[in-house]
Amino acid sequence: MFYWWDPTYILVVIAALISMAASARVNRTYSRYAGVRSTSGMTGAEAARRILQYQGIYDVSVERVAGNLTDHYDPRSKVLRLSDATFGSSSVAAVGVAAHECGHAIQDAQGYAPLKIRGALVPVANLGATLSWPLVLIGLLISRNSGMIFIKAGIILFCAVVLFQLVTLPVEFNASSRGLRLLTESGILYQDEAAQTKKVLSAAAMTYVASVAASLLQLLRLLLIARSRNRD
Ligand SMILES: [Zn+2]
Repeated sequence: MFYWWDPTYILVVIAALISMAASARVNRTYSRYAGVRSTSGMTGAEAARRILQYQGIYDVSVERVAGNLTDHYDPRSKVLRLSDATFGSSSVAAVGVAAHECGHAIQDAQGYAPLKIRGALVPVANLGATLSWPLVLIGLLISRNSGMIFIKAGIILFCAVVLFQLVTLPVEFNASSRGLRLLTESGILYQDEAAQTKKVLSAAAMTYVASVAASLLQLLRLLLIARSRNRD
C-alpha cells in the first residue's frame, strides 16, 4: 500500500491498538457492573440530584439525553445530562457515572483550576486538531525552506492538542474521586459497592490516559517526519 513505505506509520498502529484496548476494557467493566443493582436502589438521576443537594448546589438541573455514553455536565447551561443507560438505572455502574458527572458540576461550582485551564484551551486545541496535519502535509508537498515553516507550525499546533489532553487527566481523575467519596458519604452506596463502582470509573479514566499516549505517539511521528525531511 501507498502509506506503508513510511515506517513511522507503525506509531499510528500502536496508538490505535492502545485506544482500542482501553475502550474494550471500559465496555467490559461497565457491562459487568451495569448488572449489579445497588442496595439503596437509587437511579443515576436520583443519585445525581442527591449528591448535588448534599453539596449545596441548587442551580444545576439533571436531564436525560439520548445515546450511549453521552453522559456529560454542561457548565454553560448548568445542566447535568445523563444517558438512557444511566438515568433510570440503579446499578453500581450507573450511579458511578452519575456521581462522576456531579464531580464536574462541583468542580465548576468551586472554580477548580484545571477545569478552568481546560476550558480556556478548548478553542486552541480544536484549531490544533483541525489544522496540524493539513499544515504538515502542505509542508511536505511544497519546496523545502518554506515547507519547514508549515511543518513546524503544524507540530506546534499539535502540541496544543497534547496539552489539552494532559490537562484533562487531573479534571477526570478528580471528578471520579469526588464522585466516589460522595456516593458513600451521602448514603447512596455501601463501601463494598463503591469498590465495584471504582473499577468502572478507573477503567473510564484509563481511556483518557490512552488518548494522551496515542497523541504523544502521533507527536513523535510528526517529529520523526520533520527530522527525516530535514536530512533529505
Ligand atoms: Zn468526566
